Order: sequence, then structure tokens, then C-alpha cells
Amino acid sequence: NSDTAMYQAKASGRNNYRFYSPEMDAKAADRLMLENNLRRALERNELSLHYQPIVSLASGEIMAVEALLRWTHPVMGVVSPARFIPVAEDSSLILPIGEWVLETACRQIREWDKTKQFSGRVVVNLSPRQFRQGDLVKRFTHIIERTGIDPQRLGMEITESVIMENLDSSIRMLQSLKDMGVEFSLDDFGTGYSSLSYLKRFPVDKLKIDQSFVRDLVNDHDDEALVKAIIAMAHSLKIRVVAEGVETRQQLDFLREQHCDQYQGYYFSRPLPPTNSCSRKTETMRTNQKQTPPSNRQD
Ligand code: C2E
Ligand code: MG
Ligand code: MG
Ligand code: MG
Repeated sequence: NSDTAMYQAKASGRNNYRFYSPEMDAKAADRLMLENNLRRALERNELSLHYQPIVSLASGEIMAVEALLRWTHPVMGVVSPARFIPVAEDSSLILPIGEWVLETACRQIREWDKTKQFSGRVVVNLSPRQFRQGDLVKRFTHIIERTGIDPQRLGMEITESVIMENLDSSIRMLQSLKDMGVEFSLDDFGTGYSSLSYLKRFPVDKLKIDQSFVRDLVNDHDDEALVKAIIAMAHSLKIRVVAEGVETRQQLDFLREQHCDQYQGYYFSRPLPPTNSCSRKTETMRTNQKQTPPSNRQD
């Protein structure tokens, strides 16, 4: 049948044949194409992690770095996480990829220990699918033990929607990782079904204000009010607050006035590869040495 194109994908050692008709929309075809390529990305070494500093507003010190996945395909070039993470999530590929991310981050911690370059936490993003895995704690503990890192050096970010799905089992899972020393942040806060009452029950250490609220700070009074309210509420629950997507000095000054604890964004640094070829990186990845708070810098 000439109307039927055949795609061959190799999954766990055997061949799967997938068929689609021209009616299948372009978006679905694009996803299937991405999925087939992503399946090979791990073994072909096309994935890497970049790291973005998370900085204390009070001291200017780098407290942690967030590991962000990067995919460079030999033909398509750089594929953005916004495009491939949803595909990985829907196809379960996020499970092996997520383990690769944790393992790579753990190895990076050891590497930075050796070079004395960075002694803060390395934070990884956990996807909903990963969080739904019954044996997540066992799998993660295994990776932590195998790489021999101190769990106090690890952080994890999850989104609100994940924990809302199954609050009780989420709390149990989180608590056993927290007991080991892992720190937890609620990512993209404010974009999901925020129910303030669950925050009281949920043992989270940090809240990350989504960048959509930070973007228009200083111009949009509604966003200013929201950010103020989030910070006040988090602090009253003894939860620290991180602002995402800080790009300007004005945003930073506003956040400092509101006693926001930490920030992350292009204003301080973009996500960068771990091996440093440029001096900016050497500077940004160092915590053992106190940094001048950015507000005092001559920009
Ligand atoms: P996220 O976890 O909320 O990560 C923050 C995103 O904001 C990153 O995008 C980062 O590059 C970007 N960003 C940081 N500072 C600024 C800024 O000042 N301005 C702007 N406009 N953007 C800024 P990225 O790297 O494209 O990642 C997008 C999303 O993909 C992440 O959002 C996260 O949800 C997901 N992701 C990335 N890596 C992983 C991973 O290893 N596992 C999982 N499950 N998801 C990941
Ligand atoms: Mg994140
Ligand atoms: Mg985020
Ligand atoms: Mg985000």
C-alpha cells in the first residue's frame, strides 16, 4: 500500500513496525520522528547536561546549579527540551533518560569535588512519569550508592501537578529521599492547580516562582502582587523561595526588597556546559569563594 509509510523503530532489542496513513497529522508524525531518534540518542551519546547557577540574593553566592538536558542530533542539530521532553514523557523514554540524567549529575558532583570547583548542590528535574514509578526510590538510591556521592549534594525539582495526583504516595516517596539528605523544590510554582493547603502537608524545601510571573515584574502590578504573596506565604510555612528567569537588574532589586531567598536566570548566567573553556564559567561555577552580589556590580 503506497499510502502507508512504514517506520521501523528498534525498541529493547527487537524490531517494532509502525504504520501511519497520510491523514495522520504533521504534529503526530513529527512526534514519532522525534521519538524514533530520541530512542537512539542515549546510546549514540547525543545527550548532555548544562548547568545553571542558583544564587543567594543576600550573599551573591552560588548555592546550587540546575542540571538541564541538552540534545544535539547529528542532522537536526540542537533540539529544545520544550520539544523533546514531552515526547520522552509520553513514550516512557523519560525513564532511561531520567536515570542517565541523575547518574551524569552524580558523576559531575564527583568531578567538581576532585577539581574543587563547586561544592554546592546539583539539582535535577523529575518528570511526572518518573515520579509515578513505584520503585523510584530504590532506583535512585542505587544510582547514588553506585556513584558514591553524598545525597546532601543532590536536589530534585518536581511540578505541582505531579504531587496533586497522588498526595499520600508522593509524600512517602519524597520523605524517604529527603531523609537521605536530598532537597526538594516545587518547580514552575503558580502555573498548576495551586492549592495552598497541600503545601502545608507536603514536605518541600523550596518553591520556585515560575518565570512567567517574573518576566513582567516592575511593569505589571498584578505580577508584583502575586510574587509578593507567594513569597510571604512560603516564608510563613518556612519554605524558601527561588525566582526563575531573572533577566534584569530591576527584577532582581524588586525580589531583594521582597526578601526572596535565591534567584536563577540569564542576568547571572545562562545554563553552561560543565567543562570550562571560558573564564565566565570558571567564575560562575565557584562557590567556595564569595561572589560580589550582582547589584553591586558595575554592569
Ligand atoms: P525548568 O525546569 O523550569 O527549567 C528552567 C528553564 O528556564 C530552562 O529551560 C532554562 O534554560 C530557562 N531559563 C533559565 N533562566 C532563564 C531566563 O533568564 N530567561 C529565560 N527566558 N529562560 C531562562 P530549558 O533548559 O529549555 O528547559 C525547559 C524545561 O525542560 C525545564 O524547565 C524542564 O521542565 C524540562 N527539562 C530540562 N531538563 C530536564 C531533565 O533533565 N528532566 C526532565 N524531566 N525535564 C527537563
Ligand atoms: Mg526545573
Ligand atoms: Mg522551572
Ligand atoms: Mg519551566
